[in-house]
Amino acid sequence: SSEVVLVGRSNVGKSTLMREITGHSFDTGGRPGVTRKPNHYDWASEDFVITDLPGFGFMKGTPEEVREQIKTDVVQYIERYADSILAGVLVLDGKAAVDIIDRHSGPDEVPHTVELYHFLRDVGVPPVIAVNKMDKVDDRDDRLDEIAERFGLVPPWKQWQDGIAPITAKRGTIGPLNDAVRTQLHEAERDDLF
Ligand code: GDP
Repeated sequence: SSEVVLVGRSNVGKSTLMREITGHSFDTGGRPGVTRKPNHYDWASEDFVITDLPGFGFMKGTPEEVREQIKTDVVQYIERYADSILAGVLVLDGKAAVDIIDRHSGPDEVPHTVELYHFLRDVGVPPVIAVNKMDKVDDRDDRLDEIAERFGLVPPWKQWQDGIAPITAKRGTIGPLNDAVRTQLHEAERDDLF
């Protein structure tokens, strides 16, 4: 079956989302960055395999070189298996993402999340941005428009529903993500026909 990879900074709710997708329990709220190598699971409601890649970004008590190594490992894994990866789910914290992205944007600096998004596209893996923690976001459409813009997707975000999926993993509200990934699968199958 098709492989979908899951990437994101620490603390965005990756483990919580993995639990929703697979029905397995994961070490949520535990030591950040504990997932050090790719782990494969079945996507319960779909015929996909989901690969949990290590979280990157700020990890308390993790030395800089370990954090860099994690980033390198994530990129190399995706590069190596790009041909067979159906979609790359990039998980964001909907409440914090814009501030984090803006803080890391500058003349010589591209935020890692944005970099990863473009990297996925460059290697031919359709990116799906899973905007998590939507339960904490009041101005939903405005926030999603801002996020779209940060990734170079012209608002309104609603025209990008194959690529932007607002979710609340904690409450199991992940329908838009299932839909987006399923759409990517169908597009890939259609492309295979031609
Ligand atoms: P990970 O480090 O990315 O694996 O993140 P976790 O799954 O461990 O979640 C980090 C924190 O965010 C935990 O306190 C979760 O309960 C919380 N969290 C995860 N998903 C949601 C969500 O949809 N809404 C809210 N409000 N909190 C969430």
